[in-house]
Amino acid sequence: MCQCRSSLPELRGVVIVLGAGDTAFDCATSALRCGARRVFVCFRKGFTNIRAVPEEMELAKEEKCEFLPFLSPREVIMKNGRVAGLQLCRTEQTEEGDWLEDEEQIVRLKADYIISAFGSMLNEPQVKEAMAPVKMTRWGTPEVNTDTMQTSEPWVFAGGDIAGLANTTVESTNDGKQASWHIHRYMQVKCLGFNTQGFK
Ligand SMILES: Cc1cc2nc3c(=O)[nH]c(=O)nc-3n(C[C@H](O)[C@H](O)[C@H](O)COP(=O)(O)OP(=O)(O)OC[C@H]3O[C@@H](n4cnc5c(N)ncnc54)[C@H](O)[C@@H]3O)c2cc1C
Repeated sequence: MCQCRSSLPELRGVVIVLGAGDTAFDCATSALRCGARRVFVCFRKGFTNIRAVPEEMELAKEEKCEFLPFLSPREVIMKNGRVAGLQLCRTEQTEEGDWLEDEEQIVRLKADYIISAFGSMLNEPQVKEAMAPVKMTRWGTPEVNTDTMQTSEPWVFAGGDIAGLANTTVESTNDGKQASWHIHRYMQVKCLGFNTQGFK
């Protein structure tokens, strides 16, 4: 039981966690507490590019999670309708600093569970459709004015994970606070006839 009193998910066997940020290491140690026998943390770049705070990574190391750098996921291997493993290819950095994925160097790992901790994306077709007039970045998140949290549609505001700027709860909450002020200002101007300086 965790603090919120809901039951923990039950895992077993081998768990692969994809990513090397705080969330990935959090998922890795949580997977052990949920019953995983072994946890592999796979990430695309090397140890020098890890974005997580060192304590999160140290904790995962102490708890015997295994780290596999320079690997990019290619395909989930299924057997009898269940996850059975993951195919990955090796990544390499060129002298210019670009990252290449070498499809000729393939690794197959057996796994019972795969946890993606890459970051947030907008996947739901209905949500994407509903947001249609809003301009998106190449990462599939809305373009946001970081001062006002306004998107390309002046009446649509975004913040937190979906805006792709915040990485933590505190930053997401601040996005919400900033957006709420500008929503208030927008409504004053649009609905109540205030000028942009906040006066009637
Ligand atoms: C495993 C993990 C560990 C993390 N650890 C930390 C940490 O230690 N410290 C830290 O600061 N941050 C941590 N984070 C990051 C932090 O949780 C997020 O940055 C933060 O929660 C983002 O807030 P948000 O409001 O943008 O999104 P969320 O908190 O994800 O809130 C979005 C809400 O929208 C709801 N929703 C989704 N779709 C719909 C829909 N169609 N209709 C209605 N509602 C919908 C969801 O159910 C959810 O309640 C962690 C994240 C993960 C995944």
